[in-house]
Amino acid sequence: MNEPFQPETLAVRAGTQRSQFNEHSEAMYLTSSFVFASAAEAAARFSGAEPGPIYARFTNPSVTMFEDRLAALEGAERCVAFASGMAAILATVMGLMKAGEHVVASRSIFGSTVQLFSNILSRFGVETTFVSPTDPEEWRAAIKPNTRLFFLESPSNPLTEVSDIRALADIAHAAGAWLAVDNCFCTPILQRPLELGADIVIHSATKYLDGQGRVLGGAVLGKKDLMEGVYTFLRTAGPTLSAFNAWVLHKGLETLGLRMRAHSENALELATWLEAHPKVARVFYPGLPSHPQHELAMNQQKTGGGIVAFEVAGGREAAWKVIDATRLMSITANLGDTRTTITHPSSTTHSRMTPEQRATAGIGDGLIRIAAGLEAVVDLRNDLARGLDAL
Ligand SMILES: *Cc1c(COP(=O)(O)O)cnc(C)c1O
Repeated sequence: MNEPFQPETLAVRAGTQRSQFNEHSEAMYLTSSFVFASAAEAAARFSGAEPGPIYARFTNPSVTMFEDRLAALEGAERCVAFASGMAAILATVMGLMKAGEHVVASRSIFGSTVQLFSNILSRFGVETTFVSPTDPEEWRAAIKPNTRLFFLESPSNPLTEVSDIRALADIAHAAGAWLAVDNCFCTPILQRPLELGADIVIHSATKYLDGQGRVLGGAVLGKKDLMEGVYTFLRTAGPTLSAFNAWVLHKGLETLGLRMRAHSENALELATWLEAHPKVARVFYPGLPSHPQHELAMNQQKTGGGIVAFEVAGGREAAWKVIDATRLMSITANLGDTRTTITHPSSTTHSRMTPEQRATAGIGDGLIRIAAGLEAVVDLRNDLARGLDAL
């Protein structure tokens, strides 16, 4: 696939491998190990002199197909797949850093990622400073002589704050550090962080890459030499993506372009409608001109994405009333599904933060997050109207 194909083409064509049967849709390789033609071939495979599968903890054609397709979409030299998004984030640090080194991370990142950096990696001598996702000067000021990694998500969850990936890549590189971007919310269809200067892209494939809420998966992408350390951690420690999940994800990528366009259209329409609703105090969506980083977002993303947050007056009681009065939307913390989900961040996804941390992050008790699915937008609007009528 050396031609400069468009993402929609890569999503259905890149990474395909066929067996001797020449199947059109990719086969699934449910096997833990592989047989060699001779002792010499086994030795050549193990030494790396000859490419080819050995053992499914670190080589399986189904997993390789998913990795190659996602690498083509992100414009990455190499992708290493993992059992989950969290395993991918852990492997990035374990593969590239050592005790005594330092991370600068956005304050507005996935809750388990905060816990991983603050409570687990800190026990192994990797220290993290959390800073504002939107103020590059805070990142610059947090740099220490031992800083090796910048880590961010853009847009953030649930407030959709947008980080300037180009500016932060420059600041990281001047300090001799790498920039890793968790690209879960945008996917390569809407944003390609490596083109903006990032060194590492991380995915929770569990969300939009699958797109139908079926399997867990994760991935780390970047230059070949950087990914070698990440791969060595996978091979040695074994947080491996299963062949079945890889096959589901590989097929899921085929509709990613269509789905991201539809998620984005529904989200923009809901955000616009919510902003005009008298019972809504504020709407957070990068695709709205009222968003504080609208211009930056439209510069580094193709659309505003599929996630919208909004605030109602009356705190938790009011937010719960709205959520409980909806009938179509799923009350769940997941996102990136065909089905629209509705979430109360302060009592679920962000409940492990202290009230002070939530206040600093701007996550109020009246905040509601919508991950727009693929239903007809008129039905979603009617459902939200029903919710807001309960106030
Ligand atoms: C869900 C999520 C993760 C974690 O992924 P899992 O597949 O659940 O381990 C990491 N980052 C972001 C932004 C997420 O939404």
